[in-house]
Amino acid sequence: MISTIINKMQKENLTPDDVLKDLLLGNQRFIENQTLDRDIKGQKIASTSKQYPKAIVLSCVDSRVPIETITDQGIGDIFVARVAGNIENEDILGSMEYACKVAGSKLVLVLGHEKCGAVSAACDDVKLGNLSSLLKKIKPAIEATTKISGKRDSSNASFVEKVVRKNIQLTIDRIREKSYILKDLEDIGVIKIVGGIYSLRSGKINLI
Ligand SMILES: [Zn+2]
Repeated sequence: MISTIINKMQKENLTPDDVLKDLLLGNQRFIENQTLDRDIKGQKIASTSKQYPKAIVLSCVDSRVPIETITDQGIGDIFVARVAGNIENEDILGSMEYACKVAGSKLVLVLGHEKCGAVSAACDDVKLGNLSSLLKKIKPAIEATTKISGKRDSSNASFVEKVVRKNIQLTIDRIREKSYILKDLEDIGVIKIVGGIYSLRSGKINLI
């Protein structure tokens, strides 16, 4: 049973590719129902005064995509930023900069998912209170999704899946564009910024 958390030296010895591989191996354990045996109480105690998270994941709020569970990570392992439609904003960029520049995380993973309600709502141009301005941030992905057959709304599952993919790609582009800190860290190889799509059906994270 694992009762410790990742320590500073273990984290510093990891490359961005090691961290990515670690998350994908965790995802494979999740798929196979072979997640690691963790002493949650022990990890809670071990992490009270320190943390050395190896990655930050930006994901949707969807209840079917619990990040630590689907990547088989414990307490202290990863930062997770969640917002409907996994889009970046100034606060999330600040959180990512803290994770990578201050806390030494090696990987930024932007993780979208199949059948995303936020992306579907944006495709349907839903208007609802504060949700409207959030959905507006997904609109560029809709506009950039061309060469599709059928309707350009949520009734067309293949259209929605293409927008999910495009939204991840554009979010990554904007992270690099709006954060010189993350861009510089990536350019010198200290971090990697990657995208993935989680399949609700298979439980698998596929990199894009
Ligand atoms: Zn979603």
